[in-house]
Amino acid sequence: MPSPVVKAGKAPPAEYYENLFKRNGRVKPNAPKWLKTRQIMTSSFFPSPYHSQSDPFRSEVSAALAQLEEMKHRKGGPAYLGTEYELPDYSEVNQAEIPETVSALQDVVSDMLELFEGMINTAHPLSQPNVLPPANKAAIIATLFANYFSQNFIEGEYAWNLEKAEMETAAMIANLIPNWDSEKAGGIFTYGGSGCYLYGVKYALTHVMQKKNSRCHGVRVDGKILVSQQGHYAMMNSTDWLGIGMDNIVTIETDDETNAMDTEDLQEKLDELKQQKIPVLAVICTMGTTDAFAIDPVEEVHNILSNFENPLGYERPLIYCDAVIGWSFLTFKDYDFDANVNGLSQYVRNQIERVYKKILKIEYADAVGIDFHKTGWSPYATSMFLAKDLVHFKSLMNRPGAVYLNERTKYNPGLYSLEVSRSAAPALSAWATFRFFGMQGFQTTITNVLEMSLCLRAIIATEKSMVCVNNEDTGFVTLFRIYEEHEDAQDRYEQELNDDSAAGKALLAQSNQLQEDVANMMWWWLRTGSEIDGMYGAHTTYTSGFRTTNYNDDMGDSSAVVYALKSYPLNVNITPATMRQMVALVKKCREMVLNGDSSKLDTPPICRPYSEEVPDVVCGGAEAHRTRVSDMLSGVVGSRTNMRRRRAKH
Ligand SMILES: *Cc1c(COP(=O)(O)O)cnc(C)c1O
Repeated sequence: MPSPVVKAGKAPPAEYYENLFKRNGRVKPNAPKWLKTRQIMTSSFFPSPYHSQSDPFRSEVSAALAQLEEMKHRKGGPAYLGTEYELPDYSEVNQAEIPETVSALQDVVSDMLELFEGMINTAHPLSQPNVLPPANKAAIIATLFANYFSQNFIEGEYAWNLEKAEMETAAMIANLIPNWDSEKAGGIFTYGGSGCYLYGVKYALTHVMQKKNSRCHGVRVDGKILVSQQGHYAMMNSTDWLGIGMDNIVTIETDDETNAMDTEDLQEKLDELKQQKIPVLAVICTMGTTDAFAIDPVEEVHNILSNFENPLGYERPLIYCDAVIGWSFLTFKDYDFDANVNGLSQYVRNQIERVYKKILKIEYADAVGIDFHKTGWSPYATSMFLAKDLVHFKSLMNRPGAVYLNERTKYNPGLYSLEVSRSAAPALSAWATFRFFGMQGFQTTITNVLEMSLCLRAIIATEKSMVCVNNEDTGFVTLFRIYEEHEDAQDRYEQELNDDSAAGKALLAQSNQLQEDVANMMWWWLRTGSEIDGMYGAHTTYTSGFRTTNYNDDMGDSSAVVYALKSYPLNVNITPATMRQMVALVKKCREMVLNGDSSKLDTPPICRPYSEEVPDVVCGGAEAHRTRVSDMLSGVVGSRTNMRRRRAKH
C-alpha cells in the first residue's frame, strides 16, 4: 500500500518571519525554540561574518591551542602527549551516537583533547619511527586559513586567488626540473603519494588506450605496469582500484648494489611483452624507496622506451616517477657543491650530490608524484601530481562540467581532477612551506637528516656489539643490529649473511629474534611511560625483512632474511645527544631482554565490525611476473638470480 502523502499545509506569509525578529536582528522572546537555538549557534558556533573586535574566535583558538600544547611534556620527558599512555581502547567505538543537543565549544574541545591522550608527539626528538616529519608552523597555520572560508579547490570561483597556491607550487617544482617548462607543466594536489600514483597510472592507461576509448568502454585489455620489485605497494592500490588488476603488475628485478631497477631485466621483460603483443601502460620509476632509498635510472628507462613500440593501436607507454620521498633533493638546484658554502661534511656533500644528480633525471618522466608530508615537513596529506604536459593530461581527462557550475574564473581543475570538491589546505600548506623555507630551508632540513643519521652510524661504529647494516644506502634511514655484549657484531653479521649451514641459520634466527625482542622492549618502554635510568622510551621500529641472506637469492627460504632496528630521523629536533640516548636505550633494552623481562603490553580488543578477520587477497598463478604481498621486503630483495645468470653468460 502506498504511504499516504503528508500535505505540507499552507505556507506562512513573510510577515510571520519578520515578526519573529527584533530590529537589531535578534529574535523576540516569543520566537519558537528552533530560532532561539539558532541564535545561540549563529553567535557562538561560527566565526562572525563581520569585522568585529568582539568575536571571541581568535581567543578561543588560542585557548584551545594552549590546552593542546600543554599536553606536551617538559624536555627530557616522554615522547607522547598527555598522561594516559596505555594502548588505545577501540572496544566501544560502535556505540557512538550523535548527542541530542548542542554543546558548548569548550566541552567539544575538551573531548577532542582527550583523543590526543597518549598520541605520539611527532616533534619529540625520540620520535623516529618512519617517514613522519613534524609539520612546520606556516603549513599548520595554512591548514587553518585554508578552511576558514570553506574554500573549495574545485574551481577558481570558490577559492579565488588561493588557487594560485596550486599553480605556483606546480611552477616552482617544474622550475627545478631540467628541460621542463613551467608554461607547459601543471599539477594538482591530491590524497597522498598513493593518490599521485593513481593519477600516474590512470594518465598512462588513458594515454596508451586512447584509440580503444577506454574511458567510455572500460579497460578491456590486460595492459601492464612495469615497476621495480622494490617499488611502493601503491602499485597494488592503483592497479586494483583502477580495474587494471594487480596481476598486471610486472615487477622488474633490482640491482644488488644500488637496489635500483635492473635495466637489462626491464629490456628482457619488454621484449617478452612485445613478442606476446601485450601493451605496456607505464614504467614506474621510484625516486627514493622508503627504506633503501633506491633511485631508478629514469634516463636509461627513457632510452629503452624510445626503442620500444606497443602493439598497433596503442600509444607509447608513459614514464611515471614516484618521487614522493626523493623530490626534495631538487632544492639543491643552485647549490655549488665545490664551494659548499653550507659547510656540509665531505661525506654528506658527496651523498647529496650523488642523489641530486640521479633525482634530476626525472626530467625524462611524463609525470611525477611529490609528497610534502614526507620530505617537505608539511601536514597530511599534502601531495602533488605534476604532469610535464598539462594540456595533454587535461585533454585525456576532461569531463563535461555540471550545469550548476559556472566557469567564472579561468581556472577550473574540477573538470579533470579525480576529486570533485577539494580542500585548499594541501596547496596552501605546500606553498607556504616553499615560501617559508626557501631553497636554503630545504637544503638545511635534508642535510640535517643525513648528518644526524651519519652521527648515529658513527656512534654505532664505536659499539663492538652493534652493526649498521645499510651503510651503502644513500638515504634517510639507519638500519642496525645489536648482539650480545661479548659478540663481535661485524663478524657475526658476516657469518649470518653467508653461512647456510644449519648452525649458521640457527645463529641468524636467534639474532633476528633478538632484534624483534629489543624492538618490542623499546615499544614497551615507550608505551608504559616508564622512566628507567632517567630515560623515557623512544618511538622507533624494526623491519622483519630488510634484506635476504647471500645464499637466499631467490627468496626460496622465507626465514633467511635479515631483521633490523630502524631510525628514520626526519625530526628536526634531533641532536647528537638524542642519538647517543637512542643507542643507550637500545643497549638497555638488550639487557632487559636477556634478563628475561617481559615486554608484554595489554592490547585492548577492538569491537565489531573492525574485529572481523577477512581472507587475504590471492593474486597470480604460478607464472612469473606476479606480485606476492609477502615478497614486499622493505630493503634489498633477493634479486641475485638475474645477476648470477648474467655473470654466468659472460
Ligand atoms: C610513502 C610512499 C608512497 C605512498 O605515499 P602516501 O603519501 O603515503 O600515500 C608511495 N611511494 C613511496 C616511495 C613512498 O615512500
